[in-house]
Amino acid sequence: SMLIQMFHVYKRYGAKNALVDINLEVADSEFLFISGPSGAGKSTLLRLLYMGEAATRGQIIIDGQNLSRIPRRRIPFLRRKFGIIFQDYKLIPTRTAYENIALVAEAVGTRRSLVKKKVSSLLRTVGMADRARALPPSLSGGEQQRIAVARAMAGNPKIIIADEPTGSLDAESAAEIMGLLRHYHRLGATVIVATHDTELIRSMGGRVVLLKGGHLEISTVIPRLSS
Ligand code: ADP
Ligand code: ADP
Repeated sequence: SMLIQMFHVYKRYGAKNALVDINLEVADSEFLFISGPSGAGKSTLLRLLYMGEAATRGQIIIDGQNLSRIPRRRIPFLRRKFGIIFQDYKLIPTRTAYENIALVAEAVGTRRSLVKKKVSSLLRTVGMADRARALPPSLSGGEQQRIAVARAMAGNPKIIIADEPTGSLDAESAAEIMGLLRHYHRLGATVIVATHDTELIRSMGGRVVLLKGGHLEISTVIPRLSS
């Protein structure tokens, strides 16, 4: 079944057409890359999905909910379906790695007695158990992104959205982050990764849609090369 459907979606900023007549369907439990050069509209497309902003025209349906018809008070509940990962991590610099993850676990209503267990388990999953007390600025970029991935998973979201998640990382850290996203995908989540890095896509394989100048040009499946 289709988890995400976009029908004739447009996004304009003043006179600029950032997205033009986008038609896209994403199945439940799919791993999808959105590729294309800088300025193609990748971030804009992702922002429309997690309701960072509204489409100018067209319909977006997520998990059966039409975003143009959703009452304002329901938006926080829809947002909980998403875990979002950014190129620049966006961790709270004055909170420890543990607290950054715990805040999300608490926000989605994880029972108090379970938060510690849950955060510890996530820290282990991303290989950061020994840095729980570290503040983000004391961590490397790769380590910060691993915390950001754990934070994204802390709300058990159905959908992970990652906007150039490896754009600031060296190749080794990038591969680790992609491995973690694949791990979460295998657990049943839908994962959408925007990246201009065609090498990264080739190394992972999977379904790829290409954006160019706001137009969705092609959709292909690239076989996974390595494992
Ligand atoms: P990508 O993520 O592929 O680099 P973006 O989605 O960031 O592309 O941008 C697509 C186009 O929309 C670009 O021309 C960009 O300058 C423009 N754009 C994006 N956000 C805004 C905004 N808030 N205001 C004006 N123009 C924007
Ligand atoms: P794959 O086995 O899919 O090729 P990778 O070897 O690329 O995955 O994994 C990269 C990282 O993802 C690992 O270092 C590990 O931290 C994490 N990871 C992958 N699978 C699991 C798992 N089953 N449980 C916990 N962490 C995992």
